[in-house]
Formats: sequence, C-alpha cells, structure tokens
Amino acid sequence: MSGRSEQIIQAEAASEGLAYGMLHLLGGGHGSAKARVAGTPDKERKLLRRAIEAALAELTRTAGEMAGKTAAMLQREIALLSEASFMTPVWQALDGGEPAESALSDALDLLAEDRRSDGDAAQAEDLADLRDRVLKHLPGGGLDRQTLPEGAIVVAEELTPMRFLDLDWRRCRGAVLIGGSARSHVAMLARARGLPLLVNLRTGRAALTAGAEAVLDAEAGRLILHPTPATATAYQECIADHGRKQAASLAALSGLAFTADGTRISVMLNVDGPAGLEGTDPAHCDGIGLVRSEFLFPGGETPPDEERQYRVYRGLLLWAGGSPVTLRTFDLGGDKPLAGLYPEDPNDPTPALRGLALSLARPEAFKLQLRALARAAYHGPLRVMVPMVRRPAELERARALLRAEVEALAAKGVKAALPPFGMMVETPEATQSIADFEADFLSLGTNDLERQAAASGQDEATLLDLIKVVCAHGARHGIEVGLCGEMAARLKAIPALLAAGVRLLSVPPRALAGVKAEVRGCRIVS
Ligand code: PEP
Ligand code: MG
Repeated sequence: MSGRSEQIIQAEAASEGLAYGMLHLLGGGHGSAKARVAGTPDKERKLLRRAIEAALAELTRTAGEMAGKTAAMLQREIALLSEASFMTPVWQALDGGEPAESALSDALDLLAEDRRSDGDAAQAEDLADLRDRVLKHLPGGGLDRQTLPEGAIVVAEELTPMRFLDLDWRRCRGAVLIGGSARSHVAMLARARGLPLLVNLRTGRAALTAGAEAVLDAEAGRLILHPTPATATAYQECIADHGRKQAASLAALSGLAFTADGTRISVMLNVDGPAGLEGTDPAHCDGIGLVRSEFLFPGGETPPDEERQYRVYRGLLLWAGGSPVTLRTFDLGGDKPLAGLYPEDPNDPTPALRGLALSLARPEAFKLQLRALARAAYHGPLRVMVPMVRRPAELERARALLRAEVEALAAKGVKAALPPFGMMVETPEATQSIADFEADFLSLGTNDLERQAAASGQDEATLLDLIKVVCAHGARHGIEVGLCGEMAARLKAIPALLAAGVRLLSVPPRALAGVKAEVRGCRIVS
C-alpha cells in the first residue's frame, strides 16, 4: 500500500465489473501511437527538449491551480524535471541512437523500479506520471499496445473507438474515462470485452497519479484511490470469486442451444475488432451474426484498400469453418470515425449522415468494400448486411451497387459471388414499415433502437412490441430475424425476446456461455 489515505471518487459505471491495479495515465487526444525510427541524436535532443519544456509549462500551470498534496506532488515533479543529473541516462540513450520516446520511458521506468524497491512508492508514482506528461508531447507520444503495463487500470480523458481498439486490453484490468458516456460505442466495446469501465469521473485528472494503487468499482460507480489494506483485500476476494464463477459457466459453451421446451435458438457472435475472436472456438457458436467492419481496421491513416479488406473478410470465413459470417458494411458517422472516410473534413456537406446513407454518399469507397466482400463471398457463406437503413430506396440502391460490382468482377474474370443481402433494423422508419423493405435477412439493432426510444421517452414494452412486429413479418415471409444489439446478451431480457419471436441471438464472445445457459433454461411463452 502506498501509505496515502484512501480517497473515494464517484463516477458513472459504463461497463460492470471490479478491478484492482495501478493507475496508468494515457496521453490525451493522441491517435494511435507508432514505433518511430529515431532521427539524428541532435534531432531527438531537440524533440525531447521541446517536450520537456511543454510538460514543465503544463505542470507549473496545473500546480498553480491545485492545493495540498496534489500541488506538492506536481512541485516535486517540476523539481525532478529541472534537475540535470536526473536526465543524464536519457541523453546518453539518445546518443546511442534511441528515439526520444523509448529513451525517456526506459530510463524513467528503470528509475521508478529502483525507487519502488527502495520503498519510495511516492517517488515511483511521480516518475511514472512525469514520463507520461513528457511522452504526450513527443511525436510518437501516447502509449502503444506494448507499453500498457500488466494489470493496469487505464485512465484517459476520452477515447475514440479507434483508440480503444488500438490498445491491448488483455493486459489491463479496467479503464476510467474522465469524460465519456455510458451510451458511447467505447462503452459498448468495453462491455463486449468484460472490461470494467467508469466514465464521467467527478474530479479532474490532476487528482489521479500514475502508478497509484486503485480499486475500480464499476458496480457501485466509484474509484477508490490508495485503498486501505482492508478495502484492497475485500475487493480482491470479490474479484477472485467472480473469476471462479466465470470459469464454472464455461461448461455451457458446448453443444447447440435449445430451449427447455425444444426450440432451437441460433447463438452467433459479434465481432468488434481485429482481435475480436481470439481465444474463441468456432464450434461453440452458430457462426458470426455481426461483424462491425468499421472497427476492423484501426490505426491507419487512409481507409483500408480492397486487397486488405478482402484478406480480412476471407480470414473471418476461414475462422468460421463453413458457418455463416455476417459482415456489416462500414457504419460510420456519429462517434464512429474511420481515417480518410469520416469525418472527411469539417466543411463536409454530409456530417449528419450515418451508416448506409453515408456509404451511399461516398460511392467509390462503398463500391470498393462491396467488391472486397463479393470476392470473399466466393470462398464461403458470407452474408452482407447494411446498417442504419431508413428508406427502401436506399436498400435497393445498395443492392444494385453490390450486383453491379459482382457483375463487373465476373466480366474481368475475378472470382466473386453474390452474397445474401440483409439489413439492420435499427431506425424508426425501418421498424414502422418493415414490409416495405426487401431484404434476404433482418437483424434488429437494439442499441440504436434503445437510444432512440430513450430519446423519445418510450419504455421497454414499446421496444418489445416493435421486435414482435418485425419477428412476425419474418415468420410470415420466411425471412430470418436476428438480434445483434447488447440486449441479446442481457440474460434477464432473453425470455421476453424469445417470447417475442426472436430465434437468433448474436452476442460478444464472452457472453456466449451465459446466453446459451439462459436459453436452455427458458420455456417459450408467447
Ligand atoms: C445496434 O444498434 O444494436 C447495433 C448492433 O449496431 P451498433 O451497436 O454498431 O450501432
Ligand atoms: Mg446500430
């Protein structure tokens, strides 16, 4: 324990769970951090000097605004940064050809380690904080996947979905966003991974120091800094108990899912990023019910080209080994950006568009994606799905573009196939007049439907009525209706969804076991 007194900070729980670890502060506002090739030692020195000056100015400003212990800590950091001898190993590493970022991180991490083993936890924290404060002013700043320390609780002002996907969360125990929202796509990504997440912290970042021990309680909605030994032990016991329960539930993964009264329910997977299927056995699901393709290519500066997309889509088919893979075309707009496509420029005449409408406004990029999908479809049961459809004419336009791209590929002798063409049902327009839309299959996007329902004051019963109408339409016309929003993984909602007629649930990999167990315990009462 650090010896500092326990401090409880209230926050909003955006992804349930508990975590105990050390705070790790992420540089603010950076895109994906990249390993940088070093310039000349002179150039690296200049970069580092400038970054130190910027960090010093920031520290001095913040220290002036703070009081008590936080101000004292910032003053200590200012003193350290102004001390020439302390930076000697860093300058030496630059002379040896290291880029400024790794020279700084390596030297300060080593020093922090020394201080920790000497029992000076406070100075180790100061050093880690200092490292992050300088790093964020360097060109390869921020922190890359590798530098996230094992067992960290990551703290950031805000995260975009792309930045979230850039980080290797397997090493981390939880995350705290000083801003953020429980309704954002980042929150959804965290929930899909079972990563405890707090948002909207009721204090500024200055109260949080790198390396500080903390308990993240995303059940009660609070962050406990410098927990007492009693607090830490109580939480560690809860966390271990939770882990044991999860391990026991894995037994439900095998076998198909039938309700207790014998109805077959397909349970498919949602894929949210390039590492979305790691550690999942394809035999445990009925295929992939939703690939959020907009999240498959994080970190680039331009949209992925046709070849890259084709390879990734084909890789998903390979993984699924003959089961269907439902690939949704880019759902950009709102809080879902993709470098080079959205937002294109601030004066863009189409900033309010989302999903299919945005794709239709960028026909070249859309056609490129459709070509990659049609080429991949040649190799297995790929299905194309379009997001945020509002009007039947949009759907028809997209289907016509897909058909034309398949024909053009065939004319050139390129192997391609026309995949089944489905739509997300997630706009009021689509739910209200579903019979007007001609799709090969439907998937209910309850995340967007719930957002719209909340905005217009509707309750869950109204949403269930909408789901019933869409399922009845599907049953009447022999059209598959799935549900791929978070509601599919909400165990308490499953009996009502099955009663409403849903027979296909698509859920994040970590929810698979629980959902199958829940389905097996259900009797369908309609
Ligand atoms: C949904 O809206 O339920 C959905 C699956 O789409 P997304 O969460 O990507 O908006
Ligand atoms: Mg949606």
